[in-house]
Parts: sequence; structure tokens; C-alpha cells
Amino acid sequence: MVELIRGLRAEQIAENLDRVRAEIAGAGRDPGDVEILTAVKYVPVEELVTLAEAGLTLLGENRAQDLIAKQEAYPGRFTWDFIGQLQSRKVKDVVRRVRLIHSLASDSALMQLGRHAGPETKVLVEVDLAGEASKSGIATTELEGFLERCPVKVVGLMTMPPRAARTEQSRPYFAALRRLAERHGLRELSMGTTQDYLVAAQEGATILRLGSTLLGSKPSA
Ligand SMILES: *Cc1c(COP(=O)(O)O)cnc(C)c1O
Repeated sequence: MVELIRGLRAEQIAENLDRVRAEIAGAGRDPGDVEILTAVKYVPVEELVTLAEAGLTLLGENRAQDLIAKQEAYPGRFTWDFIGQLQSRKVKDVVRRVRLIHSLASDSALMQLGRHAGPETKVLVEVDLAGEASKSGIATTELEGFLERCPVKVVGLMTMPPRAARTEQSRPYFAALRRLAERHGLRELSMGTTQDYLVAAQEGATILRLGSTLLGSKPSA
């Protein structure tokens, strides 16, 4: 079990958010063009109110069950995205609750989307650029067919590069995702976490998914 983050302070989080935005500007991007999504998998339900106080309203959750519990505890307070591995049997539980699914990565999930999606449903397709068998994501060579089979609107791509010792090691993956998205006419690029968000911003990220650098559980990148 991973430890949950407790004792969050709104001023500290707001400060972290200001720092991240300043860093994004320093890296040459307009912070207004880059959405900051807060990954809340380690934040217990009762602490979420502190995120709202700090001005964080776009949240990402990894598990269907946690998404439902957290959303129902704060009706209408946050915008929710789903960012975790999406089991096909959970598609029906999350699809109408979220703004975006970031992590569509299997044909079984596609089939469930076909049955349960609404007219507003939008998704990103997760791409496995490293070709790591352990990772989820559609292989680059399979992407075109997958996009053709998708029954709902695909607005962009998402990736999780391999864990890296240095931020720069993520850059080729982010650049490759950007080129893939361009080739398929997709606008949104969900890429960059605490370990590599500035490189992701430089390579064109439109959504950064940030946990610890905002919530302060470990040193920033
Ligand atoms: C937890 C998580 C993040 C955020 O990771 P940090 O290293 O805490 O910034 C981003 N994306 C996904 C899919 C995650 O599960």
C-alpha cells in the first residue's frame, strides 16, 4: 500500500502551483496554454477540499472506485479526468463522470465505450512509445488502426515514458508523441509528470499530470 498524503496546506499548494507556472513560463510556454491536472491517487477524500482552496479544480484519478467516491463527496466542485489503467469492465462506471479519459489502451475498453459512451464522450489514446511489454498503451504501429476502430471522439494522445534518472531522457518520447499527434490531426498531448514536466511543456504538452510536485510529498523535478 502506498501512503496517503495528509496534512495538506492550501498556501503551500498555491505556492507550488505558482512555482510550476513560473517554471513553465521560464521554459518558454505560455502557462495559459498548458492545463495542470492534479493527480490525486494519494490524496484521501477529506483532504481534497484543500486542493479546491488552493485553486486546483482539474483532478485526475486512477481507480474507478476512488473516482466515484471522491466525486460524490464533492458534487460539482471539481472537473474529473480518468488517468489510470482502464479495465474494460470499469468503462461504464467512469465514462459519464469524466471530462476526458486519458488512458484508453485496449480493444476491450473500446468495445465497452461503444456501448456506454455518451454523445459528449472524449478520450485520449495512451501510446506505449518505449515498447515495454510491462506498460499499458497502444504500440505506435497499431495506433492508426486503433484510432479507426474507436467509436468515440479521440482528441489527443497520452504517454508515460519509462522511469528515468534524468529529465532529458523523457524528451525523445514526448517529441515522438507530438509528431504522432500531428500526423493524426490530434490536438491534446497529455504528457509530463513530476519527473519531467518542464521537458514535456517544451515539447508541446497541453495537459501536465502532476502529483508530488504540487502536493509536496517529494522534491520537485
Ligand atoms: C500518479 C500519476 C501522475 C503524477 O505523478 P507524480 O510523479 O506524482 O507527478 C501522473 N500520471 C499518472 C497516470 C499517474 O498515475
